[in-house]
Amino acid sequence: MVISPDSLNRHLTLMKSLGATFVALDQWLDKAQQGADLPRLAVAVTFDDGWQDNYQHAYPILKQHAVPATIFLVSRRINTDWQFWPEQVLNLLVNHADLLEHPALTWLSKEVDACGYKRQSALSIEQADAVIARLKSFTDEQIEGPLQEAREAIPALAELPRSRHLLNDQEMQEMQASGLVTYGAHTQHHYRLNRLSDSEQLRREIVVCQEDLKAKGLNTLPVFCYPNGDISQKGEELVKEHYRAACTTARGWNHSPAQPYGLRRFNFHDGNGGNALTFLATMGRPA
Ligand SMILES: [Zn+2]
Repeated sequence: MVISPDSLNRHLTLMKSLGATFVALDQWLDKAQQGADLPRLAVAVTFDDGWQDNYQHAYPILKQHAVPATIFLVSRRINTDWQFWPEQVLNLLVNHADLLEHPALTWLSKEVDACGYKRQSALSIEQADAVIARLKSFTDEQIEGPLQEAREAIPALAELPRSRHLLNDQEMQEMQASGLVTYGAHTQHHYRLNRLSDSEQLRREIVVCQEDLKAKGLNTLPVFCYPNGDISQKGEELVKEHYRAACTTARGWNHSPAQPYGLRRFNFHDGNGGNALTFLATMGRPA
């Protein structure tokens, strides 16, 4: 899921050479919803989760090309050294597989066994991905809780260095001041919304998230982004009530008149966009 700065630079250059007009997401929505003429090839750049590397690596390239972008933030994780559970599990399986024998990680080693992988020896990234895919049948809390307990029970795990990977206030303000970067809501805690049974919690993740961002003085578009692309009917009703559009993980172009609560995107990483050919093939492939 990683894209190198060189690839991002190449993508923007290539899109420009194809005649693309880079638009801010809200301006495109304004035009689409008013039925105004849209550019033949309009491109809106988005980033999910609010990673610090958006500031370190993507922002200089956006500035160089004067391309606007929207970053979807997880409001209660800003400024923290919090790690998404798939990152934590990946690190455990690839770099610290010896710890799987500890009783506090039995729940995880069971999943490794179920995939038919040998415990204790380090897993490859592909193998770790398969284990993470299995874990997605649980709720986020069902994984984050035991991970936290394991950190408390296993000193070697607690001592792993945790550096900050998410944006902080100063970085967000600096990008906003450039006029290029706007923000959108991506829940408070990055819980998958189709798995939340508590309706008050669902409301906080969807509605209060936007209030959190505004309270920070961020230029926040009324656009939501579903974590992992997942949403329930009740969640979608809340999104429709409080936002004017939502981004999904579905791949493809958005033809006007757009489905504003089901905006499609192309999720580029070096695996599907590392060179011009794969980049164009990814965009040309049917959804
Ligand atoms: Zn996300």
